[in-house]
Amino acid sequence: MSEDQARKVIQTFKYEPKRLERGYSDRTLYVNLSDNTVKAKTISEETKDVFIGGRGYGLYYLWQAVTGVTKWNDPENEIIISCGPIAGITQYPGTGKSIVVTLSPTTGTVIDSNVGGYFGPFMKFSGWDALEVQGKAERDVVVYIDGDKGVVTIEEVPLGDLNTHVLAERLTDYYSESENDKKNISVVSTGTGADNSLMGMLNFSFYDRKRKAVRIKQAGRGGIGSVFRDKNIAAFVIKFSNVNGDLNNPADKKRINDTGIKMHKEVASMDPKQNNMRKRGTTMLTPIANDNDLLPVCNFKFGTHPDAVKITKWEDKFCHTGSDGCWYGCTVGCAKVVFGFELRTGPYKGQKVLVDGPEYETIGAVGSNVGVFDRDHILECNFYCDTYGIDTISFGTGAAFIMECYENGILNKDITGGLELNFGNREAVMELLHQIAGGEGFGKIAGQGIRKMKKIFVEQYGANSRFLEDIGMEAKGLEYSEYISKESLAQQAGYGMANKGAQHDEAWLIFMDTVLKQIPTFEDKAEALHFFPMFRTWFGLVGLCKLPWNDVVPANNADTDEPQKVPEHVENYLNLYNGVTGKEATIDDILFESEAVYNFQRVFNLKMGVGKREHDSIPYRSVGPVTVEEYESRQERYDDQLKDLIGVDPSGKSTEEKIKVVREYREKQYEILVDTVYKRRGWTDQGIPTLDTLKRLRVDFPDVVGLVKKHL
Ligand code: SF4
Repeated sequence: MSEDQARKVIQTFKYEPKRLERGYSDRTLYVNLSDNTVKAKTISEETKDVFIGGRGYGLYYLWQAVTGVTKWNDPENEIIISCGPIAGITQYPGTGKSIVVTLSPTTGTVIDSNVGGYFGPFMKFSGWDALEVQGKAERDVVVYIDGDKGVVTIEEVPLGDLNTHVLAERLTDYYSESENDKKNISVVSTGTGADNSLMGMLNFSFYDRKRKAVRIKQAGRGGIGSVFRDKNIAAFVIKFSNVNGDLNNPADKKRINDTGIKMHKEVASMDPKQNNMRKRGTTMLTPIANDNDLLPVCNFKFGTHPDAVKITKWEDKFCHTGSDGCWYGCTVGCAKVVFGFELRTGPYKGQKVLVDGPEYETIGAVGSNVGVFDRDHILECNFYCDTYGIDTISFGTGAAFIMECYENGILNKDITGGLELNFGNREAVMELLHQIAGGEGFGKIAGQGIRKMKKIFVEQYGANSRFLEDIGMEAKGLEYSEYISKESLAQQAGYGMANKGAQHDEAWLIFMDTVLKQIPTFEDKAEALHFFPMFRTWFGLVGLCKLPWNDVVPANNADTDEPQKVPEHVENYLNLYNGVTGKEATIDDILFESEAVYNFQRVFNLKMGVGKREHDSIPYRSVGPVTVEEYESRQERYDDQLKDLIGVDPSGKSTEEKIKVVREYREKQYEILVDTVYKRRGWTDQGIPTLDTLKRLRVDFPDVVGLVKKHL
């Protein structure tokens, strides 16, 4: 380690690194940056039994930390990182995920975001099931966990540039003893964009030994990076050496090994024939989305574009010489990387850099949704969002909203400081991003997210509030991820009813609903909106990545009773869970565990003032055509629906009249589905879990019941 003379250790906490037992250490590391407290907390059996780990632990500790009036930038808000009992095993793909939980600056309620990289598993192996950070430091600090020695320090170290591509590499160098030691370091960091906006995200690093490069994965959603910087955290750094597959001390190692071997063989044989994630990463979704009218184009107006072919192929850009797993053992390896990309704009203009990505969501957000069909632009935006610590989804969806406002005369060059924010203007998109990151010009407004922009545009620029509510693609204050949901009623509810806001990780039902037509009735859709959010929540409780569940499937999957659930993989996951923990859980048991945590999160929303039916409403752009242009672009489809579904003859009607009829019908369908889902979930017609539901799920804690009773 160098530069020790400039290092100032503010607090030191020594502990006994603890061997994990069946995936758990049963303690959390608590850090308070206001008074520099560092201590261990024991996790009780009761807490473990109900909350399991990962997102469950995040919710549990955040609930204890905050009241219903706590704001994101109050010192008592916490950032909690936890990954869960399965995380860290190296025998199966996708086992290194952490979940980060905090109060979001844009939604005002809980945000949970899952992320790869090595930090979470290293934290577990260092003896901690979760890291809980509260308070605010006076100056920028690093929280350093040396899991080899059993020492936690809060320290000031020479930092320089805080943007991730510089800082993560610098801290990896700083805390490692040698080139070989770099693989034992993981850094959590963000960048100047998180300082100056509400859409800050966190980068979790891992060292790519073959390519000798620091790589990153993102906890992107909901402004977690902005909370991180508000607490004056420069970075969390962890060191842990000697990773091996047995560190979870699992109950049945053979069961895990056998399951892993079977899955690795399946990935090797099936992935090249199916999605080819190993070569294409999640970019493989781009042509599928475009072909099925699902790719967001120009603020979700359209679902396809002739120029989309320019952004669907990426294999030639990616480096294929190493492994792209974001944790050991991930043979799916979708974390693709581009080397030697020369930047054309911004503070690092002219430099050749590594770009982690792009993912499908980034391509949709900063490419098609802003009307730019150019791979180099997408890479440039991807790089700068990452290093600035800005969520690509919130940035792209926000920029698309601004562009539609600009094209409708709500904004103009006087307001934007000269930026001509028409769809397709890539220079303006890049300039907007740099301004957000610097907290300059129109970027100061754009960086606040769509919900706050809507208010500003109405109050200061006289915009029509109904139009902005229709086209501003956010729900609960979170910007939409990148799928057109107009033709999938189930996906509309998947977005609208998601606990954290409009993210698809709870329910991604578009294909089942519209392409495969497997859930035709309200009851079918409600059942899917029960099963899939609960099953998907479970991944976040135990530390798993969802992609190996259904992006690679067994050869005979289509012949099974419920191919959309991938039954053989569900069996694999039960083997992993039971193999690690020693339980003998069934699918019903894990769904029960998830349902408990999910309902607790719904009540948490209620605590923060957003857990009712009115908060499950969605912008009409995600339901149907808002404008004449949109309707007429799919006139045949909508006219047919008028005739066949609604029973109205479209002939002789103006487009505006037809839009009105379609809207009334679609909005009613949405409300019926919401009612059906509430009923299926055991909630009131206002979307509040009933006391019976809370009791059945064993989350009827006195403070939970007391809160719910006030709203019934
Ligand atoms: S499938 Fe991709 S995101 Fe998931 S663990 Fe593997 S590399 Fe990471």
